[in-house]
Amino acid sequence: MIEASDHGPAQGASGKAGGLVARWAYPKEIVDISFDEHVKLAMEHNGKDRWGWRYVNCGSWEKRGEVVLPEEVAGGTKSLEKTLGLPGGHKPIRSKKTRKANDLPEDLLWVKEGLTDSYAPMAKDGSTAQVHPYLFTTSMFELAKTNGVKYLKGKVTSILCTGNVVTGVEYTNREKETERISATHVILAAGAWSPTLIKDLPITATRAHSITIRPKEGVTIAPYVLFTEIVNFRTSAYSSPEIYARPDNEVYACGPGDDRPLPSTVDDVIVDQLSCDLIYSNISSISQELREGTVEKRQACYLPTVSSGGGPIIGEATQIAKGLFIGTGHTCWVRFAGSPSARHIDEFSVLNRAFQMHQGRQEP
Ligand SMILES: Cc1cc2nc3c(=O)[nH]c(=O)nc-3n(C[C@H](O)[C@H](O)[C@H](O)COP(=O)(O)OP(=O)(O)OC[C@H]3O[C@@H](n4cnc5c(N)ncnc54)[C@H](O)[C@@H]3O)c2cc1C
Repeated sequence: MIEASDHGPAQGASGKAGGLVARWAYPKEIVDISFDEHVKLAMEHNGKDRWGWRYVNCGSWEKRGEVVLPEEVAGGTKSLEKTLGLPGGHKPIRSKKTRKANDLPEDLLWVKEGLTDSYAPMAKDGSTAQVHPYLFTTSMFELAKTNGVKYLKGKVTSILCTGNVVTGVEYTNREKETERISATHVILAAGAWSPTLIKDLPITATRAHSITIRPKEGVTIAPYVLFTEIVNFRTSAYSSPEIYARPDNEVYACGPGDDRPLPSTVDDVIVDQLSCDLIYSNISSISQELREGTVEKRQACYLPTVSSGGGPIIGEATQIAKGLFIGTGHTCWVRFAGSPSARHIDEFSVLNRAFQMHQGRQEP
């Protein structure tokens, strides 16, 4: 595995995402496999303690924010479109009743009841879970290493082919020297940077900001992920941050995306403080618990999206080169690396076989 960041893997979207793992995510062909894969991984490798695996409540929350928000702020306006592919679009389902007129669950005490127009669960219990994305990704990395994966720090500059057959990769090492590795199979999983290596890949990059908040001592944040729609009652400005309570009581929140051009590596991503402040002011407008907490991380990353629609792109790209496998364009829903969709099941088997061959477990 060759990774360009000086700080190791998970410095991009895979370390800075929300971490929602949902049976109701999309495309269904992948989710039907990947959700169970997550359950299995968590059971086999103590995901609860290692990467914060747990089932979580998830709902949509609407309506007013009480704090006056900055009227002119930097930051993006692009929706991350997490709910776009759901059956019925953004419509939440209604299920169990609660004591409150606006349907707020009894234990969801960290948003203001008086500001809530409505709360509705987005899925039935047991179909939404979460991971801490940085811990999940780095744990997968550690497991991969114990299974024989070798890690090199370096930036891949080209995928080498003879005719239409992959022969290796060329990369720049830590000393800025050019090196080559020969290979019969190459897996390209460079997220938003994938088109820098295969230029015709229809992948676009959307920058998105997020923050983490540590609530003040004694405050416990009940396990809910909220897809909010907040209207500033003074300016009528609309925002829709996602808020994720995490098992260690950390709270993660992300805002909309923007079109800031993709930098050369993940280490050069620029974090816009105002975009982070806006997320904080939006979420603290509906929650005293979050407002009184401490912002610990202000961060940004690039979301890889398939520009021609749909996605992700997974499988062997024989039309480009035999032996070249691509896994990119997961949009705002990431699946366990290598998870196949039904359409790509054959390619996945090939990928799996390539890996086993690499480990000497199977004849070509
Ligand atoms: C704000 C936000 C919230 C999200 N929330 C969720 C969520 O709740 N649930 C969910 O399922 N998904 C979520 N996602 C989506 C998910 O994070 C992404 O789809 C996924 O992480 C993309 O993974 P990736 O490995 O393709 O890209 P990345 O995580 O960006 O990884 C690409 C890696 O390739 C490396 N690289 C690039 N070029 C080179 C090169 N030339 N040589 C060597 N290495 C290179 C980079 O350094 C980087 O480490 C969210 C995304 C965002 C932005």
